[in-house]
Amino acid sequence: MISIAKPMIGLEEKQAVLEVLDSGILAQGPRVKAFEEAFAAVCGTRYAAATSSGTTALHTALLAHGLGEADEVITSPFTFIASANSILYTGARPVFVDIEPRTFNIDPDGIEAVITPRTKAIMPVHLFGLCCDMDAIMKIAKKHGLIVVEDACQSHGASFKGKHAGAFGTGTFSLYPTKNITSAEGGMITTDNEEIAEHCRVIRQHGMRRRYYHDELGFNFRMTDVHAAIGLAQIRKLEMFNSIRRANATYLSGHLKGVVTPFEPEGCQHVYHQYTVRVPDGKRDALRAYLRENGIDSEVYYPVPVHQQAFYAHELGVNISLPESERAAREVLSLPVHPALTRADLDSIISAVNTFMAG
Ligand SMILES: *Cc1c(COP(=O)(O)O)cnc(C)c1O
Repeated sequence: MISIAKPMIGLEEKQAVLEVLDSGILAQGPRVKAFEEAFAAVCGTRYAAATSSGTTALHTALLAHGLGEADEVITSPFTFIASANSILYTGARPVFVDIEPRTFNIDPDGIEAVITPRTKAIMPVHLFGLCCDMDAIMKIAKKHGLIVVEDACQSHGASFKGKHAGAFGTGTFSLYPTKNITSAEGGMITTDNEEIAEHCRVIRQHGMRRRYYHDELGFNFRMTDVHAAIGLAQIRKLEMFNSIRRANATYLSGHLKGVVTPFEPEGCQHVYHQYTVRVPDGKRDALRAYLRENGIDSEVYYPVPVHQQAFYAHELGVNISLPESERAAREVLSLPVHPALTRADLDSIISAVNTFMAG
């Protein structure tokens, strides 16, 4: 089976973990600090703060910006549930704006229409490894005095006009094993704002600035040194992994027929966390079954947009129509693009897709 994702763990990661286990410092320690510094350097931000997951990075970043009850955060409905759930955890409400069909990212043209006196932040989600239109989004944020918390959980190393994902507002990343780099579980917050970085570190550690004095409600959202050691070995390989992903995507796009291949806007560096095509004519699920019969794994990210998820529709009473997100949910299929694929794997994928779509 050609898998849809494969963590790339080498000798460096294994040795780094053994060193931590031998060091006697297992929980948050010097490796976390070193990983934060390396991550900030790659993103081009002054600070980074590690957390236990991408979800806790989002939650912590929103709390550090003071998001809470009665606030509204504008985001995309075509994303992993954690983007919107992290807004709910703070007591704020997500407000959904439909996507641009070519990029699958939030359509900036829809944002101003939903701004209310309660709107406090925009959360652009850089989906599949492609940055949102950050010129347009930062312009709207500036005009209306809104905070920007980027969900860059799928976009390590991606850039928009030379600036990296996570360097526009406050950035959040996931280090889950399927992402472009991993620490097994883990998250990272990036920012140029020293106060926000410091506040994130306090929130992840039970609201503690001085040992055993707790000035605010915090959490245990810490990363361990074992996880940081893996992440540190991985971040040194990020550029190599991303260039293989980009080469795989270029090869696929050059040969696939009958499906709509991914779009990379001028000035964007797509890092292909997912290589996501649109399958026309209602053939998506049949293509997926055909690929599986031919030993090729594929996945639908995502079959249900967040505003139609049961919890949002039934418990929260969200009742809106966002046609591009709903159409994407019916048409998208992500094909393997990870760095462990061989040329033969890519040729098998191309041959299977083209045979099915021609039939
Ligand atoms: C993976 C992901 C998250 C959550 O990250 P975890 O590390 O799994 O908590 C959030 N948003 C998006 C878009 C993701 O892909």
